[in-house]
Amino acid sequence: MDRRRFLQGATIASGVALTVKGFAKGEPPTASGGTVPRVCSTWDFGVAANQAAWKVLAGGGRALDAVEQGARVPEADLRNHSVGRAGYPDRDGKVTLDASIMDEHGNCGAVAAMEHIAHPISVARRVMERTPHVLLVGDGATQFAIEQGFPREELLTPDSDKAWHEWLKTARYKPSANSEVRTYNAGPGGTPGDASNHDTIGMLAIDARGNLSGACTTSGMAWKIHGRVGDSPIIGAGLYVDNEIGGATSTGVGEEVIRNVGSFLVVELMRQGRSPEDACREAVERILRRKPDAKDLQVGFLAMDKKGNVGAWAIQSGFSYAVCDAKKQDTLIPGKSTY
Ligand code: ASP
Repeated sequence: MDRRRFLQGATIASGVALTVKGFAKGEPPTASGGTVPRVCSTWDFGVAANQAAWKVLAGGGRALDAVEQGARVPEADLRNHSVGRAGYPDRDGKVTLDASIMDEHGNCGAVAAMEHIAHPISVARRVMERTPHVLLVGDGATQFAIEQGFPREELLTPDSDKAWHEWLKTARYKPSANSEVRTYNAGPGGTPGDASNHDTIGMLAIDARGNLSGACTTSGMAWKIHGRVGDSPIIGAGLYVDNEIGGATSTGVGEEVIRNVGSFLVVELMRQGRSPEDACREAVERILRRKPDAKDLQVGFLAMDKKGNVGAWAIQSGFSYAVCDAKKQDTLIPGKSTY
């Protein structure tokens, strides 16, 4: 607990690049009281993503459309080096993307280790809706996307290429914990090299009809071995939605989440009566009980229940999540953490 910084709360304007140090003084904001419709998502880049999702929800649209539209925002943001185009590449300099999506009927679709397609979340949705399968990987996923009309594109940007060449000088693989020094976006005034080397947008929405859906999309761990797949496209690990109970999603070192089937666990804990925050905390602490060394890594869970209550928990401080509903569209909340 002593390492936890109580990040002081504030809301931020849409589109503003910020760090977790950017919370103003005062009481930390919370997502108190469940409300419907509502959308929440991981990290500070969730604020802008939520606002795109909110346009769908506010118009009476379906949660599934909301999460897809929301997830496409960080996928397209060239300042974001952990999701979509401009994501940091693997150790061979290839940008490979993972994504999954799940609707209120328990339908799901995913792509993993997919190259050259800028919006993996939309390909994941096509897998769900237009194939008998759940998960397509690698060249097969790219081929499917092209058949479906998605353009084949170069996803490695000059900034990411530069960061990769910088990394090649030492070529050491060490996930950063995203704690306190997190500088998403490098952005104007930042340097690509000091941005975090992993993060994911995980998004959960409940629509006016009370139906839940979720989406999760990432470029995974920077400098990973070519072919590595994280938790984000693995249903039950990076994302799980049960329309009777709620949904959960994760960010952080995906191997730890897969080992513990994290998002499914969070939803099952909510089924047993835990609040979203308690369920996320128990899932984090189970990871730590099984592997005490995980305290040096970052894993965060975000959950929403059937009433629109939202909660989160992470191993380390520095995690944040964004919540958007009719009252306020741009709330950013410092995630509670074990350390
Ligand atoms: N969970 C992602 C992965 O392991 C990375 C992250 O969210 O930090 O691929």
